Amino acid sequence: MRHVPVDDWVLFRRLLNDADALLLDFDGPVCSVFAGYPAPVIAAELRTLIHDAGQPPPSEFDADDPHTILGYAAELSPVLGRQIEAVLQTREIEAVATATPTPGAAELMATWHATGRPLAIVSNNTTDAITRYLTAHDLSVYIDHVQGRDPRDPTLMKPNPHLVAEAAKAFDVDTGRCVLIGDSATDIQAAHAAEVPVIAYANKPGKRDRLIRTVPALLLTSFLVPD
Ligand SMILES: [Mg+2]
Repeated sequence: MRHVPVDDWVLFRRLLNDADALLLDFDGPVCSVFAGYPAPVIAAELRTLIHDAGQPPPSEFDADDPHTILGYAAELSPVLGRQIEAVLQTREIEAVATATPTPGAAELMATWHATGRPLAIVSNNTTDAITRYLTAHDLSVYIDHVQGRDPRDPTLMKPNPHLVAEAAKAFDVDTGRCVLIGDSATDIQAAHAAEVPVIAYANKPGKRDRLIRTVPALLLTSFLVPD
């Protein structure tokens, strides 16, 4: 397997310098969405809705991730999928009120924005939750486009390359001229599928090895550039 550089700041600068557009995943690289309203609590509510609809529960492996449950529910039944989508939208909007900023993220966005190149958020989260967070934290000025999940079709969430490709299209930039920063294997997979150079952000212990296996161009454990 190809070697993945870790915390190589020279490479980080080169990847950013070479790109015409920056695509940032939201939960992780920008903030911790569920810091105050834990995702497993939301997942439990969604599982109850599935149970109440008389449908079988998702596998234990998927049971604590609200977005995985959304995809699962939509596959069971379009009606149930729409119901889960609506509840998850509401819960994400509530969650961002207590989301905590990722250290160094605002500085990264400001530095990129100052170069005059476009910046998009590309996320499986709902667009309304993302824009509310950006406004509340005075970050909207740095963001040129928000590509949240398509509420009509959860199958288009990452790892599907759709959201990444749509963000590149919004800027009229070739996907190969973008760079994506994401903190999940699904981000790296979506970027590979869209042929976007990708940087993994491993903000939690345990994520690092999992993300290295998806072979990003670089892995960062922090956005705080050492002196
Ligand atoms: Mg993420």
